[in-house]
Amino acid sequence: MTSWILAGWRRSPVALALIATVPAGLLLAGFDNRIVAPIILVLNLIGARYSWRAARTSPSGLGPWRLIAAGRAASALCTAGLMLSWQSVAGITRLLMFGLLAAGVFASISRRFTGRAKTALVAELVAVLAAGFMSIWYFAIEPVLAHRTGTDPSVATIGWPLGDVLLLTAVAAIILGGAVSRFAAPVTLFAGSLALYLVVDLTWLFTQDPRLLSGLAVADLLMTLAPVLTVARAGLPFTARTSGPPAWATHLPLAAMLTGCLLMATVTIREGQLLPWGGLVCGLTVMTGGAAWRQLISVRQSHDQLTTDTLTGLCNRAGLDQALDRTAKRGDPAALLLIDLDGFKLVNDAYGHAAGDAFLTHVGRQLRAAVRGVDVCARIGGDEFAVLLADTGHVNDAIAAAQRILAVAAGHPARFDEDLVPVRASIGIATAPAGYDSKVLLRQADTAMYHSKRAGSHRYARYEPSMIDHRADDAALAEDLQHALDRDELHVLYQPQVDLISGRPIAAEALIRWQHPTRGPISPVRFIPVAERSGAINDIGLWVLEQALIQLAAVPGGEHLHMSVNLSPRQLREPAIVHDILAVLDRVGADPRRLVLEVTESALVDDTGGIAALRVLREHGIRIAIDDFGTGYSSLQYLTRLPVDILKIDRSFVAELDDTPEGSAVAGAIVRLSQVLHLATVAEGVETEPQAAELRALGCDIGQGYLYAKPLSPTDFAAFVSGTTIPDSPRPR
Ligand code: C2E
Ligand code: CA
Ligand code: CA
Repeated sequence: MTSWILAGWRRSPVALALIATVPAGLLLAGFDNRIVAPIILVLNLIGARYSWRAARTSPSGLGPWRLIAAGRAASALCTAGLMLSWQSVAGITRLLMFGLLAAGVFASISRRFTGRAKTALVAELVAVLAAGFMSIWYFAIEPVLAHRTGTDPSVATIGWPLGDVLLLTAVAAIILGGAVSRFAAPVTLFAGSLALYLVVDLTWLFTQDPRLLSGLAVADLLMTLAPVLTVARAGLPFTARTSGPPAWATHLPLAAMLTGCLLMATVTIREGQLLPWGGLVCGLTVMTGGAAWRQLISVRQSHDQLTTDTLTGLCNRAGLDQALDRTAKRGDPAALLLIDLDGFKLVNDAYGHAAGDAFLTHVGRQLRAAVRGVDVCARIGGDEFAVLLADTGHVNDAIAAAQRILAVAAGHPARFDEDLVPVRASIGIATAPAGYDSKVLLRQADTAMYHSKRAGSHRYARYEPSMIDHRADDAALAEDLQHALDRDELHVLYQPQVDLISGRPIAAEALIRWQHPTRGPISPVRFIPVAERSGAINDIGLWVLEQALIQLAAVPGGEHLHMSVNLSPRQLREPAIVHDILAVLDRVGADPRRLVLEVTESALVDDTGGIAALRVLREHGIRIAIDDFGTGYSSLQYLTRLPVDILKIDRSFVAELDDTPEGSAVAGAIVRLSQVLHLATVAEGVETEPQAAELRALGCDIGQGYLYAKPLSPTDFAAFVSGTTIPDSPRPR
């Protein structure tokens, strides 16, 4: 058992002594009731004494323990009466015992309930009481009243069986009151003793076996240990607060009704009373069945209400927890997917809350469609969903499910008015072998989900033990980033882009830098994704644009130059983005034709709103470059329909150039593609002269990289353009 009992025993020599001596005494007695009866008497006396003390030590148990103490005292009197053959004393005191013990239990349970819950409990207990009464009536009382047993009606033959019905109801009260789900409560020990007492007593009704007295002694021992241990651990309440009765217990009243009906049928057949009682009993059984059925549905309904998300009809958090617990209890392995929508807040902001709800419902439907019927789908937070796969803990199954979910989501954008809004999500996968802890599993899936989100939109990640939970650090960074602009911690560097043939600078890419007051310089690779998620990128991006355009105008002799500025996917989804960019151009007085906006492929794939924005910007003369081209997943056919002017060959392909056909395969293909589509090409990350030579040979127009210059401060950039040597600038080889 639990630490409570262990701790109690250690502190209670009385409990230890009882445990050691009573079973030994009973064994020695060998069912000799001349020895068993005194043992019971002593147990009753100790029980009465300690129950009384328990009443004082545990304040909430004052009433219940006092009643129980009185019940044990009555039981002691009864035992003495039996030993001295004072039948009437024994009869009355035992009756008192039943009443007082049951009253103690009812008193302790009833104080935990109020209002409707109390009424419901009473109704359930009435059903149990009635079923118990019917059984006792038929098997014990009626035979006595009809003089079929050879015993006369008396307190012992009528009253005691009725007392057993009271005890049965008391045990039911403890179970239905939800007090037994914890071993640590004295009431659990007490309930066990009552149940044992009941079983022994009922067996006695039918067998009259005198050896059963030893059984009562064991029940009395348990009933005595409860208060003894309570006293040892002073202050423990009689009943502990628990989350409710165990699941099976809710069917107890139904079982009671069924018992009643079965009994009626048995009686009708056994007594040969098919006419007229058969029809009545059948009708009553069907009626009770109907009522029970209806009650079962109500129980289900209220259970469903507790575990269902009203918006999507999927499970809610509680439902998922239950499903996880079920799988864990069955000893099955588990595979859990945690799904977080990307950019849901934007939908809410742009289209309103009703549309946001419709979007979530749409996502719920797509999610359901993407997984099997047996898998559990849940919405566990605003825009957070989860899937618990059935019958598998295999990571490959989980990955397949994640891929299916992403594909279904990508293929089914939501429609608001004229707009198609893409469904994008980040998925975290965690799997666990049998015997897992659901909390740990959820946390792991959550960590994986966050990693997936950091890595970019609409993808999945499976949990690895090496994954660090970046959440706290990212949150701190996001917080600091809010003030970075005001505190002048951000600045922009300019990396020249040169004509590969003439070697003359023709443009620059604006690249942001953050000088953190305590952490020092932080790479944009680290903080731009954080700014994307927090939304700070909107202000920061426009600020970079403004700085870059001001700088462009300030470069002496730079009238022919143009400026490349990065535009993040999040910015592109901002409804006011076109207006904002044009406003900056206007404010600075810059020519839109000297501006290039760099967007990544992933920002464009299935993002119709973004493409429309780019189209408008392009109509104003701004050019669009696809950044990191070749690393995303846009189809070539798709490319022909995009508003694009420039392809930037990702630096990983430039790094592969090694004068072999294999090395130049991708870069060459991109150059030819842009020639066909009449686009310009810029090669990123050009670090060596041989790379530059090969790019020239392939027909690439423009190069950018350390070979020419690292990202430069405004002064150094101006110097670079005017042809002055820059002392700090590395000019490899
Ligand atoms: P990107 O747009 O692909 O920028 C090019 C990156 O390659 C820059 O890194 C640049 O310093 C680096 N680079 C240039 N030449 C070479 C070379 O020869 N070799 C190597 N190994 N690297 C080279 P940086 O400045 O750290 O920027 C990283 C990323 O951060 C950028 O990748 C861009 O995605 C993002 N970023 C930077 N500034 C901004 C900004 O103002 N707005 C947005 N949205 N993103 C930005
Ligand atoms: Ca770029
Ligand atoms: Ca790039």
